[in-house]
Amino acid sequence: MGDEIYQIDPDRCTECIGHFEEPQCQVLCPVSCIPKDPDRLESEATLRARFIRLQSSAS
Ligand code: SF4
Repeated sequence: MGDEIYQIDPDRCTECIGHFEEPQCQVLCPVSCIPKDPDRLESEATLRARFIRLQSSAS
């Protein structure tokens, strides 16, 4: 939770790579208010590496 709105921690977001075909927060949001950050576009390899890191740190 941010000061006024919920915020996504970019160091913990994989754009759902490793779990789903599409970012589930964007798919489920009824008012389309979860845009990609144009200043932080990441490759699939980067996102997949984060998924693996998060999975290993969770166990
Ligand atoms: S639902 Fe997926 S895309 Fe949305 S914040 Fe979580 S990991 Fe990122």
